[in-house]
Amino acid sequence: MAKITRVRTIRTRRNGGWLIVKVETDQPGLYGIGSASDWYHNDAVNAAIEQGLGPRLVGREVGRIEDHWQSGNTSGYWRNGAVMNTALGGIDMALWDIKGKEAGKPVYELLGGASRAAVPCYAHASGNTLEELVEDIRRYVAEGYPVTRCQLGPYGGGGFLTPAEAGRPRGADTFASTSQGVFDDEAYLENVPKMFDYLRAQLGMGVKLTHDVHEHLRPHNAVTLAKLLEPHRLFFLEDNLSPEQVTYYRLIRQQCTTPQAMGELFVSPHEWLPLIQERLIDYVRCRVSKIGGISAAMKVAHLCEAYGVQTAWQEGGDNDPVNQAAAMHVDMTIWNFGIQEENHFRPEELEIFPGHARLEGGHLYPNERPGLGIEIDEAKAARLLDADLNRVPRHMAEDRRADGTVVRP
Ligand SMILES: [Mg+2]
Repeated sequence: MAKITRVRTIRTRRNGGWLIVKVETDQPGLYGIGSASDWYHNDAVNAAIEQGLGPRLVGREVGRIEDHWQSGNTSGYWRNGAVMNTALGGIDMALWDIKGKEAGKPVYELLGGASRAAVPCYAHASGNTLEELVEDIRRYVAEGYPVTRCQLGPYGGGGFLTPAEAGRPRGADTFASTSQGVFDDEAYLENVPKMFDYLRAQLGMGVKLTHDVHEHLRPHNAVTLAKLLEPHRLFFLEDNLSPEQVTYYRLIRQQCTTPQAMGELFVSPHEWLPLIQERLIDYVRCRVSKIGGISAAMKVAHLCEAYGVQTAWQEGGDNDPVNQAAAMHVDMTIWNFGIQEENHFRPEELEIFPGHARLEGGHLYPNERPGLGIEIDEAKAARLLDADLNRVPRHMAEDRRADGTVVRP
């Protein structure tokens, strides 16, 4: 059996936001790749792989994925954190890639075989006006996307007042903000239902729509929003609560039937277990790389199946094509697949990853190559990376309330 000889990382994208793991073996040409990207803490994940999890795998049999996952998970004693899980997730994907290459089959064939022809995705529609938003939704529907997320204006859009409208106290503007506006719960509660009134009037009820609250609301207002949106029969309402306030999902369930999607910030079973077991959410939205890779995602999916919960793995702008491929393989086989978040990459970014997933007509298509089916061109990856940009720290957006209080992202 092949043995692991080296685990290393490759950093790419222009600003270095993508971290790809490569697991090498003692068999000529046999290696695997995985996604360990963390937009905000890539250096920490990199150290966890190259100085921690990686060296302990050298000399071990490459095919023992479950053992490597379980023993790796407890190898630092403290576990279920974002950095270690991402490191573990990247390695796990690379091991599945190798398993597929050894078997001569795509990974989804090893996970149970195809349950569907392709992976339906949801698009991100937005507009600065309602008219622009409707136009954008129509464009995605025409393209073939079965579900569309609707956003008015920027991240948190619909809830922003101008500083003058918000009536800010002296000194509120001394708190750093990445937004021009001031976030206001009541404005959000006023504008988002109106947005859906307009969308339904224009598009009818036949178009499947979602909305992402980005956790911005106070929890009781999140309950109100779910109630107000009930008549619009959303495909789901996403991140209506922050991870710290998930017990409010019980109140939402008692109040309305708006489907709830949650979990893109989750990294620990302690976070998703109660919501699934109590059937408090309808779609689990973890990012495959953030929960420990394909092995972990399959377990979450199977757990969800028993409780009638669907999947909607997170993607989004900071994610890389390798995580997209890993999620796609899981999506292809699990029965309780719900929908997959889309991701678009620049042509020069996709060139780095031959065999990347094909996004056509709102659906992801895997290829039939063994393993994950995606490779990395390391020379092109190195050429795209801008060393200066890579050194610039990245931080999540900071939206503020009128008095300067930061809003959870
Ligand atoms: Mg979200």
